[in-house]
Amino acid sequence: MSEDVMVRAERVHKSFGLVPVLKGVDLTVRTGEVFCIVGPSGSGKSTFLRCINHLEKINAGRLWVDGRLVGYRQKGAKLYEMKEREVAAQRRDIGMVFQRFNLFPHMTAAENVMEAPVQVKGVRRAEARERAQALLARVGLGDRAEAYPSQLSGGQQQRVAIARALAMEPKLMLFDEPTSALDPELVGDVLDVMRRLAEDGMTMIVVTHEMGFAREAGDSLVFMDGGVVVESGNPREVLGNPRHERTRAFLSKVL
Ligand code: ADP
Ligand code: MG
Repeated sequence: MSEDVMVRAERVHKSFGLVPVLKGVDLTVRTGEVFCIVGPSGSGKSTFLRCINHLEKINAGRLWVDGRLVGYRQKGAKLYEMKEREVAAQRRDIGMVFQRFNLFPHMTAAENVMEAPVQVKGVRRAEARERAQALLARVGLGDRAEAYPSQLSGGQQQRVAIARALAMEPKLMLFDEPTSALDPELVGDVLDVMRRLAEDGMTMIVVTHEMGFAREAGDSLVFMDGGVVVESGNPREVLGNPRHERTRAFLSKVL
């Protein structure tokens, strides 16, 4: 697989019990791009992100991150399920930011950001704290390092969550409707942080209803409906001139 591909999905299927949710997702995310996923509620967007990050297991098809199959080792024509340690190593390279920030409430912003590097990577606390401070500054919260989540706004908490994900130095960031739970006036700061991250070259998959962000910051966009990719392309083209009726119907509701 070529080096400039970060994620490739081929005919990815996922069911919960007998209910199919992903019905053959095909897509390619190039290294360094902002890849937006839009679509109605229930179309499988979160499930797809969760499959990339080992939170769900696909039932059929193939999924690669950075040239390696997700969850499987390939030897010749045979596939072997990865051991837990290999799965953990693969997950370490992927940062995820959820709609709900899920910070540890009993830890300060800095402690939240330090936690994984210290616990998972064995980074010394002093060094982790210094790095946490720098990451918090990067998301515009350099002066709130000692604040607890309850003392921060939703937008600030979400920016701490982004810093926390970045602390593991991921090569891929997944965002699942990161601004959907925020009051409207707090959305802009979070999107600004994501734009800067994109400018710095981070590969990002962003599930969002923020069409302005998708249009301006997105390099590619797919419209998902009913567990498949219905339409894909340049965000400005897909959003400005959707080809499929389902895409048009969806966009007429959200734009
Ligand atoms: P989206 O993020 O596009 O709104 P989801 O991926 O969350 O869609 O969900 C797609 C469908 O899968 C929904 O019908 C949802 O109810 C179902 N689903 C998601 N997770 C589970 C689960 N763990 N068990 C059963 N059904 C699920
Ligand atoms: Mg979702």
